Amino acid sequence: MRKNTIDLQEKLQELLLAQRDNFLQGKVADYIPALASVKPDLMGISVATIDGQVFGAGDYQHPFSIQSISKVFGLVMAMNRIGDSIWQRVRMEPSGQPFNSIIQLEWEKGIPRNPVINAGAILVSDILTSHFSASKLAFLSFVRKLAENDNIYVDNQVYLSELKHGNLNAALAYLMKSFGNIEAEIPDVLSHYFTQCSISMSCEQLAKSLLFLANKGIDPRTKETICTARNAHKVNAILSTSGMYDQSGEFAFSVGLPAKSGVGGGVIAIVPGYGVICTWSPPLNNYGNSVVGMNLMADITEELGLSIYY
Ligand code: GLU
Repeated sequence: MRKNTIDLQEKLQELLLAQRDNFLQGKVADYIPALASVKPDLMGISVATIDGQVFGAGDYQHPFSIQSISKVFGLVMAMNRIGDSIWQRVRMEPSGQPFNSIIQLEWEKGIPRNPVINAGAILVSDILTSHFSASKLAFLSFVRKLAENDNIYVDNQVYLSELKHGNLNAALAYLMKSFGNIEAEIPDVLSHYFTQCSISMSCEQLAKSLLFLANKGIDPRTKETICTARNAHKVNAILSTSGMYDQSGEFAFSVGLPAKSGVGGGVIAIVPGYGVICTWSPPLNNYGNSVVGMNLMADITEELGLSIYY
């Protein structure tokens, strides 16, 4: 049973306080200097509901690098643009491999396992690059519109770092191109991908911007159709099976919500018919998921009875 939201604000504060020292158990992503320098003890949580309420505790208004959470926005844009033909170029199966694995991609002839691992997101970036005259701008505008905030920005320092340290992502892109599964020029595709990963947003902004996925594709605030109900269902299904890297099974087991995490330490979880939860704490576990984020998601879902599997 979902609890009344009246005491939710207090509950968020309480749950966050209980996690105060747990960030010490993780390690901040250090594959690029721009992420390695983020303060490890920052943490926040926000809940936005489809009936218009927004709750938050801790550093929930502090912008952070959304990284792989951007894959959710990209997938929605690509599905809206090219429809079901996307599923001829990327599958919808869990990978069971690390997010940046290249091994499966060769076995499976350049068809990524799903759109929320790096290979799949680079494929989606190719679709966006090929189908929008200015895909980076279109992406940022889409996110700004959903978050109702025109100040959301791309962190140029993160972007330049991604570009400099992006050899594995480039390898994934070239491998797919060699199988004929990438249309645009690789530098353009990578530039799009790194741009979307380098967007900074807060927990509050992310929670609000993804409300349409909890509401059958319709933005509950504006009543605008962002995607079809069927596409919202497909995105949520993929997030349920693949959104938490190769810890997606454990996340389904302990939390039970469609979710996506990013190496910036953010996690978003969709609660269909209710709203969106977003947590942020930079130190990551061995799978690349925020340690505190995993704990907070389990706690709040249990507390409010939000798992989709009950
Ligand atoms: N920019 C990161 C990469 O492509 C994103 C990884 C992630 O957040 O999972 O390696």
